[in-house]
Amino acid sequence: MACGATRDVSTAVRWARTVGLPAVPRTGLGHNYAGYSATTGLLLNMARLKSIDSTPVPGPRSRTRTYGRIKVVHDAGTVTVGAGVTNGDLHPLLEDRGMFVPTGRCPTVGVAGLVLGGGIGFSDKMFGLTCDRLVSTTVVLADGDVVEASQSSHSDLFWGCRGGAGNNFGVNISFTFQYEQFQGDVGFYRLSWSLDSALPVMAAAQRIAVDTLHNKRFHLRVGMGTHGLTRIEIRANAGVNAIGQYYGDLDELREILAPLLAIGTAEERSANNASVREVTPGEASVLLSATTPVQQFAAKSAVLTSRTLLTDDQVTAAAAQLREWPGSNNEDGAGFAMFALGGEINQVPPDATAFVHRNGVFVLAAETSWADYDPPRVATANLQWLPEFYHALFGGTPPPHSYQNFPDRP
Ligand SMILES: Cc1cc2nc3c(=O)[nH]c(=O)nc-3n(C[C@H](O)[C@H](O)[C@H](O)COP(=O)(O)OP(=O)(O)OC[C@H]3O[C@@H](n4cnc5c(N)ncnc54)[C@H](O)[C@@H]3O)c2cc1C
Repeated sequence: MACGATRDVSTAVRWARTVGLPAVPRTGLGHNYAGYSATTGLLLNMARLKSIDSTPVPGPRSRTRTYGRIKVVHDAGTVTVGAGVTNGDLHPLLEDRGMFVPTGRCPTVGVAGLVLGGGIGFSDKMFGLTCDRLVSTTVVLADGDVVEASQSSHSDLFWGCRGGAGNNFGVNISFTFQYEQFQGDVGFYRLSWSLDSALPVMAAAQRIAVDTLHNKRFHLRVGMGTHGLTRIEIRANAGVNAIGQYYGDLDELREILAPLLAIGTAEERSANNASVREVTPGEASVLLSATTPVQQFAAKSAVLTSRTLLTDDQVTAAAAQLREWPGSNNEDGAGFAMFALGGEINQVPPDATAFVHRNGVFVLAAETSWADYDPPRVATANLQWLPEFYHALFGGTPPPHSYQNFPDRP
């Protein structure tokens, strides 16, 4: 059912309850990794709920700060978005009006699924997770009643809507966020090396993440990956990479990155140094966005703390397993990515919201992908390979936490 208004959802939920059908909301494309936005029951397509309304009234915690060449008005106002709004729908607000709500990397990901599971991205250490910016949300409950959940009203439901994952407590109709107002430029970097540098890069990146855990200006994603069809291609394409942004001066960013910028061949070092530059927040949002994974994929995640960072042995085992990836026609290939946590994220007590991973240093996502048109044996081989890759990383005792928005396939 295509839902265009609150009463559509309310009526549909009541009807589904009467006839005994499961009702499942979907934002748009249905990105949930485990297929939780698919059903043989009643699918509520929320894609038509595309409203975006802003109220430029500064909140009680509003303040202006300068970070290097960027001026930020924190809590400059609120923006209310319908349940069909995607990250990509919000990006023009930044480019055209300097308004910003922290979201994830992919323009087609729905704000609904993102915020309900937490929402990690390249501004979360600075401004909090997407769910940390949520002020209130309108929800249709299982009996069809409509409520407004916030810190002061239905606070238990509000707690669950900030990290408890989608489709567990009701159907959310809209979300109100505090936004920031921007002026000026941010630092950006994109670094890459061959897999030969995996050990020094992973060691240096993890040390930097720990050293900058409380530095909310610095954002880092580091990982390794490959793609291709033949063993020769897969081994030749295997590499390590890091990407992120910095709210401050380029000199400070270069100093933080110095251990990484010193690694690699002369050619790699030169390209990596040249990638460190100032861009507008709008350009950063484009450079940092990624539309992957696409087509067919599977993922397994883990939250790493300072006690469970990857050792050299784990990195070596993962690199060896990556070289043995079975291959596919999907250009995303396979590998893992680690998103650094800390800053404002870790200032929130673990029990304050349903996103409980507030002591984490990284969210790690191990992924593999294949094309829609690959033969079934390719899918089977990839689905067999992923748990082996995860096992290479963590053995029989993986970290106890994983990220709600990167769930395993059932
Ligand atoms: C290309 C790509 C890039 C990604 N990058 C990031 C990233 O940078 N950071 C990050 O944190 N995550 C990222 N993710 C993961 C993403 O956050 C999750 O896949 C998320 O669940 C997608 O939400 P959705 O609304 O698009 O998907 P959907 O599949 O529509 O919804 C996800 C879940 O929420 C439920 N749901 C949807 N709408 C509602 C609603 N209105 N009310 C209640 N429940 C609802 C669905 O039933 C489902 O269980 C990425 C995913 C992809 C595919």
